Amino acid sequence: MTDPISRDGLAPRFWENKPLSKLSKPEWEALCDGCGKCCLNKLEDEDTGEVALTRVACRLFDDSDCRCTQYPIRHQFVPECIVLTPKNISEHAYWLPRTCAYYLLWAGQPLYDWHPLISGDSATVHEAGVSMQDRTVPEFEVGEDDWEDHIIEEPT
Ligand code: SF4
Ligand code: SF4
Repeated sequence: MTDPISRDGLAPRFWENKPLSKLSKPEWEALCDGCGKCCLNKLEDEDTGEVALTRVACRLFDDSDCRCTQYPIRHQFVPECIVLTPKNISEHAYWLPRTCAYYLLWAGQPLYDWHPLISGDSATVHEAGVSMQDRTVPEFEVGEDDWEDHIIEEPT
């Protein structure tokens, strides 16, 4: 499976030598490990702020390769899809998956060995069992009222 994220030509271990705010666009994009967990619908408790993950995936998500099928033009179809940046990561950190590279670096933690930037292979995120490959249901098959029947623990 080809990796749609370009990780060529980047300095070795660049993420250990620069703060998130100093990363170039290609470096920032290369941090995404392709787990697909940010494309799942979540349920947020209004009173406690607690976030529950569901296996109900965004309508543009393809769980065979854990990719957005329309990434460059996704906002035409899903205007609410969040564009994570060094500036807004603090406000989104509470719901980001705990293995998400952006979350880990924001929290001052190292990347896992299965991260494609370390393994050199985009398949290792799936082999490690932390991705949503073949584990989701599409949102057009499950009404929002039934999402709570599909709450899952984050695969880590
Ligand atoms: S959760 Fe993070 S690492 Fe995983 S696909 Fe989303 S942005 Fe990429
Ligand atoms: S629009 Fe694409 S990137 Fe955004 S949540 Fe949906 S599948 Fe993921």
